[in-house]
Amino acid sequence: MPYVDLTLHSGGHCRERAWFVDRTRGFAKITLPALVAALRHPKAGLIFFDTGYGPHLANSTSFPARLYRRLLPFTLASEPLPTDGLSAIVVSHFHPDHIGGLRSLPAVPLYHSREALHQLRTLSPYQRARHAFLPELLPPSFTSRAIEDCPRVTPPDLAPFTEAYDLLHDGSLLAIPLPGHALGQHGLLCRHRDGSETFLVADAAWVLTNITHLSLPAEPALRILGHRPTILATLKKLHALHRRRPTLRLVPSHA
Ligand SMILES: [Zn+2]
Repeated sequence: MPYVDLTLHSGGHCRERAWFVDRTRGFAKITLPALVAALRHPKAGLIFFDTGYGPHLANSTSFPARLYRRLLPFTLASEPLPTDGLSAIVVSHFHPDHIGGLRSLPAVPLYHSREALHQLRTLSPYQRARHAFLPELLPPSFTSRAIEDCPRVTPPDLAPFTEAYDLLHDGSLLAIPLPGHALGQHGLLCRHRDGSETFLVADAAWVLTNITHLSLPAEPALRILGHRPTILATLKKLHALHRRRPTLRLVPSHA
């Protein structure tokens, strides 16, 4: 049975009040990493899930980039990512803390939602900024692998999630739509060699308690980005999945 080995790396971090990501917590500042998942597949080689922040985000002089840095200041990772054998990058969604490192990495094909990128590219500059989409973070040219073109499958034991895209055509990496937080957001269900699985849930939750206790992010966090009712519907599905399969490892991007 094909599998992937998973390691998590820091793609930089920001500091935010704990209350912002879970309203039952206090106002002390906590560190929120921007995780990069490195997935090693026996045939496909190394695949990244997201890239974290990067120098292009730190140095962009566009107004939306300067505004982003002012609202959500961040620190770049101190260690470079291990890119030996990198063959593709899966983009969960197009927020700066997920695609900020793309242009510093080797030019490899990108798996992403074609629909989301098309929609983002056709927005007005104001709406693009509202969606925190900074087009200058994308490489000038790249090979697209649309998630929507991958075989559509039913994930074997992921109810209430019933829809998935089989990225490598062997069941080892399934992209799962996680709507609400950002246009075209997908998580990744990874199958490991011991038969266990990890569900990388991107920004469908910011901390695990959002899922395990259904304790919600602060209201501004729910409203600034994304569609509140859909964010809550996706969180409830993750909560139901966790209740049904408490041993399934769930990994938010910033936990
Ligand atoms: Zn996001």
